Amino acid sequence: MSETIPGLSCEPGRIALNGVRFLLVRPETLVGFQKAIEKEAPELAARALQAGGADGGGRSARRLRDDKGLRGRELVEAMCKMGTEIGWGRFRVESFADGAFTVVVESSPYAEAYGKAAAPVCHFLAGVMKGVGEALWGNASATENACAAHAAGTCQFRVRRISP
Ligand SMILES: [Zn+2]
Repeated sequence: MSETIPGLSCEPGRIALNGVRFLLVRPETLVGFQKAIEKEAPELAARALQAGGADGGGRSARRLRDDKGLRGRELVEAMCKMGTEIGWGRFRVESFADGAFTVVVESSPYAEAYGKAAAPVCHFLAGVMKGVGEALWGNASATENACAAHAAGTCQFRVRRISP
């Protein structure tokens, strides 16, 4: 099955989604980067990768919030739709309440590329979800509670507001 992604433009040397530059990269490239950090500094990997995810995800979420006026569950739903469209897995909002939400991702490319793991590995995805939480509430934490690379069929992310 092949579907066109709305807002996607491809010209030589530049791919953009709704005017924002993206790049296509094999999941193995990012997972190779992740495993290299894990080998050198295991305690740093999850934190650093989550920070990268939160930077990119936060930019996208703030753009949807500020330009399209999306708030609350609508903003999380829009980010899940976008994540699915750009191939980061199949996202759905499992629950949403003021101060916390849960997103489930099927077919995470990171889990697939990583292979069997002793703990959840989708730190980029957790970071994106943290970025969404920060766009909603200012400060947020994100935890991957279940991971397809670890012991579950799907990946599940729990995001919570951090009170100042
Ligand atoms: Zn995962």
